[in-house]
Amino acid sequence: MTTEDAGRNPVDSRSRRIVFVCHCLLNANSKVEGLAQYAGVHPLITQLAALGIGIIQMPCAEMGSCGMSRWGQTREQYENVAFRGLCARLSDETLAQVHEYRRCGYEILGVVGVDGSPTCGVANSASGHWGGEYAPAEWAEVVSSVESAPLPGVHIEALFERLEPLGIRFFAIDESVEGHHVDEVIRGLTATE
Ligand code: SF4
Repeated sequence: MTTEDAGRNPVDSRSRRIVFVCHCLLNANSKVEGLAQYAGVHPLITQLAALGIGIIQMPCAEMGSCGMSRWGQTREQYENVAFRGLCARLSDETLAQVHEYRRCGYEILGVVGVDGSPTCGVANSASGHWGGEYAPAEWAEVVSSVESAPLPGVHIEALFERLEPLGIRFFAIDESVEGHHVDEVIRGLTATE
């Protein structure tokens, strides 16, 4: 028995391994209408559960600020002061949980985001300068101007600032590719450093 194990209940079977995931990986219903590629829970979650890894669902900042009738928006639209403030507050709560679990000997395997999202992208996020009144005649042109920028989404950026200095690693599901990078994410989370 190690010093760390001393005092622990031997019949307690928790793994003490935890991953933080973006909200919609456990609840596709939070996504912008028309964008859900699975009914409820992403296949990544099933695999994490089978491995005995605890899963913490972070709040959906878009749902919390713009509700379920929101349009798909770009990073530039979400880079406003109010949304950044919301993401900072949500990230502070995540940081507090990380500190508490680590203080008590739990292992934080990482954070999993959703690439392409202007809010939860890790390697890239939807980017484009649009906004204003909906104009059907110009809509196709506006939508086609959106591109993928090699920047994290606004919520993930706030998490990076707080968690990367602590050595927390970030991974992402990418729904634009076959398999969504699930295998890579699992390998990364479970790799011993
Ligand atoms: S904001 Fe993040 S958690 Fe919410 S639907 Fe978009 S990717 Fe998922």
